Amino acid sequence: MKTEIEALRDPAARLVILTGAGISAESGLSTFRGNGGLWDGWPVEEVATPEAFERDPALVWRFYGERRRTAMDAEPNEAHRAVAAAERTMGERFLLVTQNIDGLHEAAGSRRVLPIHGSLWTTRCTGCGRRRPDRELHATLPVCERCGALERPDIVWFGERLDPAHLERLQAFLLRADDDHVPSVFLAIGTSGVVQPAASFVRFARACGAAAWLNDLDGTAENAPLFEHVVPGPATRVVPALLAPVG
Ligand code: NAD
Ligand code: ZN
Repeated sequence: MKTEIEALRDPAARLVILTGAGISAESGLSTFRGNGGLWDGWPVEEVATPEAFERDPALVWRFYGERRRTAMDAEPNEAHRAVAAAERTMGERFLLVTQNIDGLHEAAGSRRVLPIHGSLWTTRCTGCGRRRPDRELHATLPVCERCGALERPDIVWFGERLDPAHLERLQAFLLRADDDHVPSVFLAIGTSGVVQPAASFVRFARACGAAAWLNDLDGTAENAPLFEHVVPGPATRVVPALLAPVG
């Protein structure tokens, strides 16, 4: 395939990439929208909410233990690597925003990344807020060494707010491209455009003058009409081609 984002040939161009579960699908991690709202057989809205954790923390920890177990063996793919290569070429003209919690972008070498939905690899205290690196599966409920309160996965669940610092960085990045009158591109990869507010970032990007591109397996993402260019196909094939000018 020959499709590439030509605007990226401009040496002043800025690029924002937003990724979702689809970019990790070819690394063997399951998405959920395609499976009737199930994430590996689990009803997502029933395990990924603060209410679920209050009701049954052991069940929620079992679900995230299962996520850790599968993600632990997963490797970044060609699409993750192409995204990391674009960052190496573009430096501070590049920003990655990911809804994924699997850590595969970081494993591929991405550094300028905002993990807006949190991380599978840290755990947070519900009492004092302390975060710590954690790769365990937790057969018994983990408690904080410092204050003794129950610990939780460091995930932004349905119904919880994103870190305002992440949103500010994204907005400042797009506003600056607009102020400087340089070409800018917003590229969404493998996200169904259902989960807010990420599904609306494309609106803000376009209001800031960015050209909007979407790669999705079959082009059926719910917010596809908001994009000017929709390129269907598997991310490992499409993304390296789109990013060839900065690869
Ligand atoms: P989603 O499951 O709702 O949608 C996945 C999208 O990716 C679909 O539009 C599908 O067509 C597309 N897709 C599937 N395979 C693809 C491929 N090989 N190449 C390109 N596109 C492909 O995912 P979402 O929009 O990210 O929303 C899901 C939420 O669930 C997010 O909040 C995320 O935190 C979480 N989640 C994360 C992971 C992960 O970290 N790997 C996995 C599942 C869900
Ligand atoms: Zn604590």
